Amino acid sequence: MKIAVLPGDGIGPEIVAEAVKVLETLDLSFDMETAPVGGAAYEAAGHPLPESTLKLAKSSDAILFGAVGDWKYDTLDRPLRPEQAILGLRKEMGLFANFRPAICYEQLVGASSLKPELIAGLDILIIRELTGDIYFGQPRGRRTASDGHFPGAEEAFDTMRYSKPEIERIAHVAFQAAQKRGKKVTSVDKANVLETFQFWKDVVTEVHKQYPDVTLEHMYVDNAAMQLVKAPKKFDVVVTGNMFGDILSDEASMLTGSIGMLPSASLNDQKQGLYEPSHGSAPDIAGQGIANPLATILSAAMMLRFSLDQAAAADRIEDAVKSVLAQGLRTPDIFAGEEGTTKVGTREMGDAVVKAMS
Ligand code: NAD
Repeated sequence: MKIAVLPGDGIGPEIVAEAVKVLETLDLSFDMETAPVGGAAYEAAGHPLPESTLKLAKSSDAILFGAVGDWKYDTLDRPLRPEQAILGLRKEMGLFANFRPAICYEQLVGASSLKPELIAGLDILIIRELTGDIYFGQPRGRRTASDGHFPGAEEAFDTMRYSKPEIERIAHVAFQAAQKRGKKVTSVDKANVLETFQFWKDVVTEVHKQYPDVTLEHMYVDNAAMQLVKAPKKFDVVVTGNMFGDILSDEASMLTGSIGMLPSASLNDQKQGLYEPSHGSAPDIAGQGIANPLATILSAAMMLRFSLDQAAAADRIEDAVKSVLAQGLRTPDIFAGEEGTTKVGTREMGDAVVKAMS
């Protein structure tokens, strides 16, 4: 089991160190190799995704990724900015399926801005198509308008497009994920307005015929955005395109109110995956030892489950995380001063997970 460890920038190295510590506690043998990515790689090699890092990632079963980015790189040319490393890995490795669970842990119900009864027990999975849609469609650019409301004016345009195989493969991923959960898929589209998403709806409906044990519902994206805050527990698996998924997965992850708790996975069709916390590099708290490492530790658990076929080890980590929360341990981002809770730092939280595993 070969794992490429890419800590990145900001709090990335601090939180990844804790996840590595947790992995090393398991009775499994991993070949883990670390390489620079993002701003750290730009400093070391002049590029956010150096050839050697990409080669390591491609030759590994999975990538454990911290986070990239810092405000100080905002003035660099776009291809040299840290965030390009993630886009490069997605593209080069064909990581088309993004999994973002939004789970509300019992002990953290109070961290959500929604009423406890709406959020207690929440366990939904957003599956976002990651390599197509308007984010990648060609042509795109600027030109002089030849028609429209203002012929002759300067305009910009992008192209929304999806091919049938692209929709089919993400639909299969969603139905298969639902089979292992609540057996319901909500496919989110904008079929009432967009040709691309009428096609999306038709193809998802066709693929559904192969999964009679799963219920399929279709929902327009504007309604889905409302339902996520009105009655989020009605969802099980949500599948959607790249742009709608970008927005809805952030909305869903914030339902729980604790960004430091949320893992994510991006997989290709050989089950190779990139596993990272949903949050960024948090430059505002980097180096202070107070970042919450749990999203990264839970990303390592997803890695064991989805890319390394080690479901029992994944369960062990997830149970240990629940146990440390039950013990009342909280990093500052999830600390609200309730009775029986103690504020801890990044390393203490990682140590507590390791202890809970044994
Ligand atoms: P962010 O997620 O880094 O931080 C938002 C807020 O959440 C900050 O106040 C931060 O302190 C807090 N936070 C985030 N993770 C935390 C954790 N584990 N524990 C405790 N608090 C945590 O988002 P941002 O501030 O908008 O972006 C910072 C940098 O991260 C930017 O350069 C951005 O481009 C980059 N970014 C990278 C990724 C990625 O690597 N996948 C994703 C999003 C943003």
